[in-house]
Amino acid sequence: MDDQGCPRCKTTKYRNPSLKLMVNVCGHTLCENCVEMLFVRGSGNCVQCDTPLRKSNFRVQLFEDPTVDKEVEIRKKVLKIYNKRDFDFPSLREYNDYLEQVEDIVYNLTNNIDVENTKLRMEQYQRENKDLIQRNKAKLTREQEELEELLLAEQQGNEQRRLEALQEEQRQLNVKKKNKQALLDELHQTVSLQPVPKIEEVLYQYKPLRVETYGPRVPELEQLGRLGYLNHVRAAMPQDTAGGYTSALACHRAIQDAYSGLFPLKG
Ligand SMILES: [Zn+2]
Ligand SMILES: [Zn+2]
Repeated sequence: MDDQGCPRCKTTKYRNPSLKLMVNVCGHTLCENCVEMLFVRGSGNCVQCDTPLRKSNFRVQLFEDPTVDKEVEIRKKVLKIYNKRDFDFPSLREYNDYLEQVEDIVYNLTNNIDVENTKLRMEQYQRENKDLIQRNKAKLTREQEELEELLLAEQQGNEQRRLEALQEEQRQLNVKKKNKQALLDELHQTVSLQPVPKIEEVLYQYKPLRVETYGPRVPELEQLGRLGYLNHVRAAMPQDTAGGYTSALACHRAIQDAYSGLFPLKG
């Protein structure tokens, strides 16, 4: 594999993995670049065997051995003319003889043996079987078309089945969804039919906070002003009152604090 390369510029696949080798009807190889260079005018002679070649006949070399490529090309051409099939022969024996002839022709042309005579034989066969070749060609085309139609139908069938499967899946999903909704509805109904339980509780009643101190009785909040306590506290500024502050409240707390630490002496 490594020594595969162009015989002209000596580039190898080992040195240039993207090297594209081409092969023509004579079975000799050239790289793509050399083909471009040597066949600028569309035709020229093979550097190895001097056969006149057309640039358009160069094919990418598919096989390691370029003679295989050559044989494939030749076989294609020969089978276009030798297109009989088994049922065109009265016996298997005759069909086998025919196949052997075809192989001889392919072999001769591939290996440059008796080329002129072989070509003459082919031409003669072509003249003698002109009608049958045409008929078989048409038949082959028809069969090919039928095969393609069959394949297409199969593809469409597959697509149809795929769609149906998808639809079925969707249907199942919908059924599931519906069942779920029905269950939810039922549940909802059962729940809403039951009487709403009444919560009965005793209403909250406010009891004023009683602060127990052991000291003297703290005067009531409302009495502070009258008793003169407020004269000793800073009057509330307008910005203080926004939060609900009154000077009486602060005064009352201060008195509570002060009184709660006092204990009357038992005399
Ligand atoms: Zn080359
Ligand atoms: Zn050649």
